[in-house]
Amino acid sequence: MSELLDRHRAVMPAWMPVYYGDDALEIVSGRGRHVTDATGRTYLDFFGGVLTTMIGYDVAEISDAVRSQVGTGVAHTSTLYLIRQQVELAEKIARLSGIPDARVFFTNSGTEANESALLMATNVRRSNQILAIKNSYHGRTFGTMAITGHRTWSSSSLSPFTVNWLASADRLRGRMARLSDADLIDAAVDDLREVLATVTAGDVAALIAEPIQGVGGFVAGPDGLLGAYRKVLGEHGILLIADEVQTGWGRTGDHFWGYQAHGVTPDLITFAKGIGNGYALGGVVGSAEVMNAVPAISFSTFGGNPVSAAAGNAVLDYVLDHDLQGNARRVGSILLDGLRALSHGIVGAVRGRGLMIGIEFVRPGTTEPDPAATLRVFDLCREGGLLVGKGGLYGNVLRIGPPLTLTEEEARDGLTVLSDAIATADAEAVF
Ligand code: PMP
Repeated sequence: MSELLDRHRAVMPAWMPVYYGDDALEIVSGRGRHVTDATGRTYLDFFGGVLTTMIGYDVAEISDAVRSQVGTGVAHTSTLYLIRQQVELAEKIARLSGIPDARVFFTNSGTEANESALLMATNVRRSNQILAIKNSYHGRTFGTMAITGHRTWSSSSLSPFTVNWLASADRLRGRMARLSDADLIDAAVDDLREVLATVTAGDVAALIAEPIQGVGGFVAGPDGLLGAYRKVLGEHGILLIADEVQTGWGRTGDHFWGYQAHGVTPDLITFAKGIGNGYALGGVVGSAEVMNAVPAISFSTFGGNPVSAAAGNAVLDYVLDHDLQGNARRVGSILLDGLRALSHGIVGAVRGRGLMIGIEFVRPGTTEPDPAATLRVFDLCREGGLLVGKGGLYGNVLRIGPPLTLTEEEARDGLTVLSDAIATADAEAVF
């Protein structure tokens, strides 16, 4: 155990998770898609700090933009003054959102972005009823924990909202298991109609959904699901909030935003993580009508500060100039095809889109989750020089969300480590 881990444990709360237990990793530098730890060992990074280092490490365009802002001597004054970088970024995001006459509010995190979206939705609808999806993750505050349908992450039973839950699109277990796409959409719409008709009087503020559930283990409903929900919501004037914190900016390859696979434009879109490539930046975008509905004034000291906004502009330009969405599609399909070609009893499902890929581990021949096999593969990957993420309601999903700049060669390198790790864990599995 490292001296730093000892000190970490002595000063941080017990509920703050750290990967790799007693072998916790201290990353001290990075370049491209590789990071180096304090012992000098280099790893290929397939998780990018939970899908946050979206462009990669040590990218000149981003470092230069940040350095140039810091060089002005003004890291920040406050959002009470005009910030050119912030306005420019808001203009770009408003244009990319697909929402007509859009307004953007910047925050420091995805949690705050979702809190802000809930503030807008509850004000415009004059209702504190929210529909959320089971197995979702939306943040760590009272409001966002209350709409997080994932027991591992939701510590509080106190809620500022009345929350009603819709089934998640889990294809392996539960009421949506093994349904065809069309049947799943029908079942989900029936579920929504039933909730609206029984436990609400239709006076719900919003439905919030991740187009692909992130922390929940990269669970995705069929294309068109949010659009089908939207038809029903529209009958009641209920807003749709898309939490694009993990799925935005081209990560899913086929689309710039995850919601675009569903033939729908949400009323509010929340974002964070990748847009800052490590600098704290999040926000919410929605129509002027919805965004302006908040009666009191509201303010964030740091939201959209010049340094984060400079990073955000450089990141967004990089994504667009280098067609990272196209890269996510191409390189993602190499990974997806390679993983799908593996045939091991412990692999219950390989799913994903672009560079957002989940591998679900089960006890062979069943759909029973196997978190021990998952942990084994996770640790073996690290031994083989590859960092991946973990997740899922049962802790049995490996999450792959590398920087969108991942090269084909790096994808193949990572695939080799993953295949070996899965084969070893499969051979060891006790049946
Ligand atoms: N929404 C989603 C979909 C997320 O994955 C996360 C973070 N894991 C959040 C919201 C919260 O973001 P943050 O950690 O920046 O507050």
